[in-house]
Amino acid sequence: MRNFSIEHFQKLESYIPVDLLSFSGFTMAYLIVLFFILVRYFAMVGISHWIFWERENQFGVILHDKKLPQEQIKTEIKWSLVSSLIFALSGVLMGISWQLGITKLYLQFDHYTLWYLPLSFFLYSLIHEFYFYFTHLWMHRPKLYKIMHAVHHKSVKTSPWASFSFHPWETIVHALFLPILILIIPIHPVVVIFYLTFMTITAISNHLGVEIIPFKVVRDFFISGEHHSKHHKKMKVNFGLYYTFMDKLMRTEEREH
Ligand SMILES: [Zn+2]
Ligand SMILES: [Zn+2]
Repeated sequence: MRNFSIEHFQKLESYIPVDLLSFSGFTMAYLIVLFFILVRYFAMVGISHWIFWERENQFGVILHDKKLPQEQIKTEIKWSLVSSLIFALSGVLMGISWQLGITKLYLQFDHYTLWYLPLSFFLYSLIHEFYFYFTHLWMHRPKLYKIMHAVHHKSVKTSPWASFSFHPWETIVHALFLPILILIIPIHPVVVIFYLTFMTITAISNHLGVEIIPFKVVRDFFISGEHHSKHHKKMKVNFGLYYTFMDKLMRTEEREH
């Protein structure tokens, strides 16, 4: 258990035990990251699917018919697998830039005082909201839409399997966000791990086809199933990722009636 003391999470070797610039180190790291991404996808989406789609006495407000064609689910899984290959590359890219010493990743938890840990998480999510909103809007331009974003919108009625169902060009746009931001804004690697988990949970909840946030006051600030499901059905509204403020600011929000 000594390995998992606080000290363990403050050492570079705990995160990068191999030389990522060597061919074998790179290959091993890529395969391990890919394995974790695939386990994360199948475990988290599979559990959500079972809880919200298969069980009787399901929670939440159902947003659309859950009897989707098998073909759609297969396509969503296929594109999510392709996305995983790119996300794994982005993970190793972050490791390489960290190894090269060009990132703002820091190892001592109290390096910027402890309250910076949650603050950095919040900061990342706010900047991500801007980044996602404008790149998403940009991908809705007719020419780019066809090339980059139409794959994601094949799911008019979404299922949780659609959470990472993107064309590779779109995945690259999403996968670039963290490798760029860690060069600019300090963050602890443990916070990055929490953030990646948060990204997965919100991607699933946005595509679940079920509204799981019971309080309207919370839904006024945070995006979940109902908000994003409208985006898939209507295309011209609700472009945000986590928060509703960008859609409010840009007057692209359509709420429940
Ligand atoms: Zn869209
Ligand atoms: Zn979507």
